[in-house]
Amino acid sequence: MTNSIRLGISSCLLGEKVRYDGGHKLDRFLTDTLGQYVEYVPVCPEYECGLPVPREAMHLEGDSGNPRLVTVKTKQDKTGQMVRWARRRVVELEKEDLSGFIFKSKSPSSGMERVKIYSEKGMPDKNGVGMFARIFMAHFPLLPVEEEGRLHDPVLRENFIERIFALFRWRKAISESRSRRSLIEFHTRQKLLIFSHNEQRYRDMGRLVARAKDIPLKELLEQYQARLLEVLKYKTTPRKHANVLMHIMGYFKEQLSSDEKKEMLDVIELYKSGSVPLIVPITLVNHYVRKYRQPYLEVQTYLNPHPIELQLRNHV
Ligand code: SF4
Repeated sequence: MTNSIRLGISSCLLGEKVRYDGGHKLDRFLTDTLGQYVEYVPVCPEYECGLPVPREAMHLEGDSGNPRLVTVKTKQDKTGQMVRWARRRVVELEKEDLSGFIFKSKSPSSGMERVKIYSEKGMPDKNGVGMFARIFMAHFPLLPVEEEGRLHDPVLRENFIERIFALFRWRKAISESRSRRSLIEFHTRQKLLIFSHNEQRYRDMGRLVARAKDIPLKELLEQYQARLLEVLKYKTTPRKHANVLMHIMGYFKEQLSSDEKKEMLDVIELYKSGSVPLIVPITLVNHYVRKYRQPYLEVQTYLNPHPIELQLRNHV
């Protein structure tokens, strides 16, 4: 497997001039910030399926369950051309070792959700999926996907980036040693991260890992990966994080002085009430982990799930 996180992306978001009007939709966060930590695999469905730049604008029209991709003015139907190309392209993309895909929103080819579908009378209904995006998501049902617009929301941004980093770590662990032992070690390091997303699912995963030796290895690894990607889709909340932070405090019961305990509780309360961002209690916990050398916490991904420079835990 590759040494860097590889993400598929709609080409125009990287500044490539492939849009119908010859323009692009450069997104600086994706290129300048996230781009420092990932390697992009650009895909422009309309250009790659053989349409020129510039070209006539297209939209989806017809039945919402089975819309057609049609040019807006001259009404040429490009559905067959797009579908044939997309089915081939997703098979090629299997070799790219993608940890996720970032789609251009609203596009009849690339949009992930709420794409307009026009009725015969020309009335739009925002319940469509871009034609390539639909085929991609059906082919890679578990792969993390997002749109550039939604990534401006700090909660969705952290959730997506956490998932791509988690999938990358998981694949790396399993490619280094494809064994039950690797799975158990990996799970041990992710426990608090998983717990912060969904406590019930965390317990279900614990039961799966406890039965590891009774399940054929291939099936076990597939089940674990599917559950990992599912659980991380649940959004974290201040209440869930506060719960994890209180749980973490339990590991320091013997070591923290009463002053330190009070400081920790105060900071958790400030975070829970929205007065300080998550990075504040996390920084304090990391300080205590270094000071008191707590071995279980030292390996917890939850305390450092993605590069701090991305500032994903700095919002309130
Ligand atoms: S939205 Fe998709 S199809 Fe349109 S230019 Fe961007 S990558 Fe190409």
